[in-house]
Amino acid sequence: MNNERLNRNEMFFGRDGQDRIRRTTCAVVGVGGLGTQVVQQLSLLGVGGLNLIDSEEIDTTNRNRYVGLRHDDPVPGFRKVDLGERLAHSIDPTIPVQKVFDSFVSEAGFFAIRSADWVFGCLDCEGARLILTELCSAYGRPYTDVASDINPQPTPPAYGGRVCVSQCGNGCLVCLNVLDMDEAARDLEGEAERRNREAIYGVPRAAVGRSGPSVVSINGMMASIAVTEFMAVVTGLRQPKAISTYYGHSGKVTVSVDAPRKNCWYCSLWDQGAKVDVERYIRDGIGKAIR
Ligand SMILES: [Zn+2]
Repeated sequence: MNNERLNRNEMFFGRDGQDRIRRTTCAVVGVGGLGTQVVQQLSLLGVGGLNLIDSEEIDTTNRNRYVGLRHDDPVPGFRKVDLGERLAHSIDPTIPVQKVFDSFVSEAGFFAIRSADWVFGCLDCEGARLILTELCSAYGRPYTDVASDINPQPTPPAYGGRVCVSQCGNGCLVCLNVLDMDEAARDLEGEAERRNREAIYGVPRAAVGRSGPSVVSINGMMASIAVTEFMAVVTGLRQPKAISTYYGHSGKVTVSVDAPRKNCWYCSLWDQGAKVDVERYIRDGIGKAIR
């Protein structure tokens, strides 16, 4: 298909590069402040399909940063996956969009991820990141994790984010020391364990921090790095940088050169498929706790 709207892309990475992007279906897990920006950029870039997964509806506090959200979109009653679909189709109505209005830890969510060629995690939960790491490794799907963070406590405040690209079992959030495993374990614990721990230790700061500050331009910065890494890999410009970190308070982006830890269990699962049994998370009902 000749698509004139993509001519300026082709002047950069060629017709062949554009064709590779067009043959790529991306799953976007979490269609929020980060996810809507990723959806917008992937649609403009000309991807071949989008699988959008989010169990939530829009709320009023999303209106400072969600790309494509209109002032008169109803609250409650407007699903984030429908926003993502409308956004993609406002750019190109021919992009096939699959929507899962459920936790990604569900039959439909796992299917939507397995049937994509590339996965973007746009989440704010370490436990969800750990499950996505295992799922993407088991089914051999490259996984770009996108995170933004604002900590208003120090003076001056700290803000920025991080993009991590895992592929081919050559480093993941776990062996690159990106993931907070203690927080992930807390996210994935059962209700009884949670009540016990909170009775002893109180509620952790991380658990109350998810409705903290979030700003459009910082999310946009991280989404742009994530989609640029994707574009570079898929078109064959270069291999991805494993970790790109943006320090907004000092105006810097750095790229990690640290090698991943050896003998990573998650990386060793690469492309082993159903025998890994990532589906145990669904059977255990983890999806109820993880959006
Ligand atoms: Zn690993």
